[in-house]
Amino acid sequence: MKCALITGGSRGIGRAICVKMAEMGYYVLINYKGNEAAATETLEAVRAKGSDGELLQFNVGNNEEVIAVLGAWVENNKEKQIEVLVNNAGIREDNLLFWMNAEQWRNVLNISLDGFYNVTKQVLNNMLMKRYGRIINIVSLSGIKGLPGQTNYSAAKAGVIGATKALAQEVAKRGVTVNAVAPGFIKTDMTAELNEKELAAQVPMNRFGTPEEVAEAVAFFASKASSYITGEVLSINGGLYT
Ligand code: NAP
Repeated sequence: MKCALITGGSRGIGRAICVKMAEMGYYVLINYKGNEAAATETLEAVRAKGSDGELLQFNVGNNEEVIAVLGAWVENNKEKQIEVLVNNAGIREDNLLFWMNAEQWRNVLNISLDGFYNVTKQVLNNMLMKRYGRIINIVSLSGIKGLPGQTNYSAAKAGVIGATKALAQEVAKRGVTVNAVAPGFIKTDMTAELNEKELAAQVPMNRFGTPEEVAEAVAFFASKASSYITGEVLSINGGLYT
């Protein structure tokens, strides 16, 4: 059975990716941190597409937890192959560096950057053995151009972009591609308290994007159609300068 694992699949962009993977015929592993009700809604949306899946609760930033839950799943489900991994879980804790405390710095780097390491480590081996895999990392415009008030988030996402490019070269010979998608402003819980009207005015398309628009690009990288593309970062931002 071919599976797609999406971290942070309970809400927002992650949920839209889960639904898209279901449309592509994948059995969907929906990771979440704490919001079981939202994760269950995602699973229902996956089933509504005629596919199936299951919930996997773990904090991507906690390596022991990732090993205990995801590592054990991989070990106990040898007939199921994770072909697609989408490292999507992320948080933001914005502050000017002047005011930023060490915890805000660490939390954001831990979930995006350590999370990439912790989760990818558990699934890469099987991809290499099967000589096929698709890893897609959700980064951000903030990690490309840097955004004031987000030194932690920009650093975390820029770090994942570097890791994407390095890992792509390590595993290319084994049929595994590693790409990143860099959204601009997307309408989710993460951006709910931003002044949408004011910020949308900075976007050439004059609006925030939708999670489904991001999921379409992820689907391309997850598909066989993108077989000669690796180490690439695709911006999805309505024309915002990067
Ligand atoms: P969101 O609506 O806030 O959803 C965040 C998701 O991540 C939830 O499913 C949440 O699970 C999960 N999550 C958070 N911390 C986690 C952890 N430690 N372990 C496992 N799962 C965790 O966010 P979003 O807007 O969809 O963002 C998704 C990704 O896109 C993030 O990497 C974000 O940085 C990136 N991005 C977003 C935008 C934007 O404008 N929205 C722009 C650029 C990049 P629970 O439901 O259990 O809390």
